[in-house]
Amino acid sequence: MSKTNVVLTIPEPYRFELAERPFPKIRAGYAIVRNEYAGVCLEGSRIWTRHDFEKFYGGLQSDYPDGLGHESVGVVEQVLPGSNFRVGDRVVIFQGDWCGHCHSCLNGLSPTYCTANSYPPKPGMKRVAMAGIQDWNESESGGWAMAHYRIAPEANMMRIPDGLDFKYAQAANCSCGAAWSNQEIMDIRPGSTVLVAGVGFITLGHVISALYRNCTVIALIRNKYREEILRRMGVEYLVDPEDADWLEKIRALTYEGQGVDYGIDGSGHPYYQKKIMEATRVYGNINFSGHIPGQSLQLEGLRDVVDPQHTFTGQHDVRKIDRESLVRMLCNPQVQKNIDAMVTHVFPMSKAGDAFDVQVSKQCGKIFLQPQL
Ligand SMILES: [Zn+2]
Ligand SMILES: [Zn+2]
Repeated sequence: MSKTNVVLTIPEPYRFELAERPFPKIRAGYAIVRNEYAGVCLEGSRIWTRHDFEKFYGGLQSDYPDGLGHESVGVVEQVLPGSNFRVGDRVVIFQGDWCGHCHSCLNGLSPTYCTANSYPPKPGMKRVAMAGIQDWNESESGGWAMAHYRIAPEANMMRIPDGLDFKYAQAANCSCGAAWSNQEIMDIRPGSTVLVAGVGFITLGHVISALYRNCTVIALIRNKYREEILRRMGVEYLVDPEDADWLEKIRALTYEGQGVDYGIDGSGHPYYQKKIMEATRVYGNINFSGHIPGQSLQLEGLRDVVDPQHTFTGQHDVRKIDRESLVRMLCNPQVQKNIDAMVTHVFPMSKAGDAFDVQVSKQCGKIFLQPQL
């Protein structure tokens, strides 16, 4: 019997299907990986409930109905002659395609910014990113993480050290990976005070990364379930953003009451973005690691930029130059304990609907699927 692939799809809101598809095909520069874990990201919060993620980028499609998931780890199943990988290698797949010629590829930056993952598509192609990978390989499956098998560009694969469990390696994608790379860009120094707000799984990754850097972490948080996760990680300072004196409480925790050194929002909501800007000291750093379609923040030049002299950053996924330091962090035992606290649910892919429902409920940290089960 010839080998096939099994691919998760969401044909309509609140209904998923495990569809049988032909086994993937690859061209030079790509490998086929058997997925062991896949992280639930926007699939749960947006695609499961209303399919609006497909209308991003001014109506151009960035996600497609033939597959889901961009975060996975697994075992190399097939390579072509001349590959730098071997069948059986355990790998992290960093999301998206790789062209090798653009600013992002030439400077070791994040695949999301590679021209192969943004519009217009490569010559001869109609789609980008995960779908583009599948089409470029003239394959009928394999673009996505929530599937038995996935096609990955070898340039975006990294071998996992022998002693590192798949579960911790999986945190290299959104969550710890995106957070670590943003913190490298911000150059967060040990001993700094870091305020996080809008606590979802990317923010939880920021907390893990900031604690690893020996920073003092303060969280602006209302979600009681996620407060408990932060307490298990050892975060002592939790402030309710609805408290009348929330700002005084935060300032009182900082050197000379001058405000935090770094303010990070993981929600994309202006409510939290404004609050972290208010609480960050002059010459401090502001980072936006989350985004919500249709939300925008109004800035007043003097009040919000010139007077505070804040540096603004924010980027998707993991820069290539940060991959080694990221995986070194994931090997740290305390970091692994905190990942155990962050990953509150692991579901077999056959129960993906339950996973998406839990994600929507916000009574969770990061959720992983096991695509083989
Ligand atoms: Zn590129
Ligand atoms: Zn993600």
